[in-house]
Amino acid sequence: MVDGISKSSTSCLIKKRSLLSSAKVCLLVGERIPGSGPWKLMVGSPANLPLAQTVDSSSPTEVAPSMWNKLWNSKIPERLKVLWWCILSKALPVRSVLGRRFPIEDESCPLCGAESETMEHLFLSCNVAFHLWRSSPWGIFPICDACIRMWDWVKFLWDLKNKGINEQETFLYASLIIDTIWRTRNEKVHHNSPVDIFKCIDAVRFSFADHHAYLLPCPTRCLTESWSPPPQDWLKLNCDVRVGMDSMCAAVVARDHVGKVIWVSTKRLDFSSALCGEAAACCLAIEEAKARGIQYLIVESDSRVVINVLNGKESRWELDNYVSFCKTTSTSFIGCNFHFVRRQCNFMGHNVANWAFSNQRFGSVPISSLPEIIFCNDREV
Ligand SMILES: [Zn+2]
Repeated sequence: MVDGISKSSTSCLIKKRSLLSSAKVCLLVGERIPGSGPWKLMVGSPANLPLAQTVDSSSPTEVAPSMWNKLWNSKIPERLKVLWWCILSKALPVRSVLGRRFPIEDESCPLCGAESETMEHLFLSCNVAFHLWRSSPWGIFPICDACIRMWDWVKFLWDLKNKGINEQETFLYASLIIDTIWRTRNEKVHHNSPVDIFKCIDAVRFSFADHHAYLLPCPTRCLTESWSPPPQDWLKLNCDVRVGMDSMCAAVVARDHVGKVIWVSTKRLDFSSALCGEAAACCLAIEEAKARGIQYLIVESDSRVVINVLNGKESRWELDNYVSFCKTTSTSFIGCNFHFVRRQCNFMGHNVANWAFSNQRFGSVPISSLPEIIFCNDREV
């Protein structure tokens, strides 16, 4: 899903050109937010943030008919097109919209209570929205103030195409985020349900996996035949298993956004089943990531069945325990995604599993003790 993300595309600032005052509209992709947990308003300029670019923001009246056409023809469920239409036409009954028609007692955001509930606040800058955007596998999230318009964000998402990112995948993910925010907001307003951000992130992730299968049957990652690094601030964990006669070795290699190996972990398993071994390797990955306090991770495995099961797309009774472990543990992270990759994108995990099995080296393996030759992406060693 992160295939094709270049360094420049993960560090891109979009700023409203016409604003010369301190009021700025910024959309930032993959830029580090110090202490990234809580929401922070980041204001910057292309001068102090490299790899920046600018675009104009537009008023709803300036929206070209071709943009509406693009919306109606996008590969998202019909009801989500209607939701986007309501948002972009300012027809969704958020409190600030209602307040302009008749006096209402409370215009504050039902999710955070901190600001007036405008369309832009609810879907882009509210704390809940921020965490949902931040959890996307592309590392994209809006940074904005009251001047941003929803259209700018939509256009930004569609323009990701020019950065080598599959914008249909991103727009589907974005549509599921706004849907989840709207549902969560209504649950809070009508039933006073507490907001559980991890549940929201899970809901987006699982419905993305569901919808992706039939709306976008030919994902870009199928076309990619080499390993690609995760976005900045994320770790990618490549998992594999070496199966022996009566035991196996699960292995995990963790790499950062520049492809640097951060840690390696292996585990001996005293049974022999390739499918369970692949699942156990994924469990090892998130167990180790949790122990190391990682917040954003992508777990990659070359077992399509295991990844499908972990994403709720199919079920296998023999994997129930592994799935349940992964589900429970994944709530410890802000972003945790399970991806299938072809074998040729997973050679490093494969090589480490082979080496550790042959040399009986299990546990957290110091990188310096591993032969350098096995850290290659392009071949079996
Ligand atoms: Zn809010």
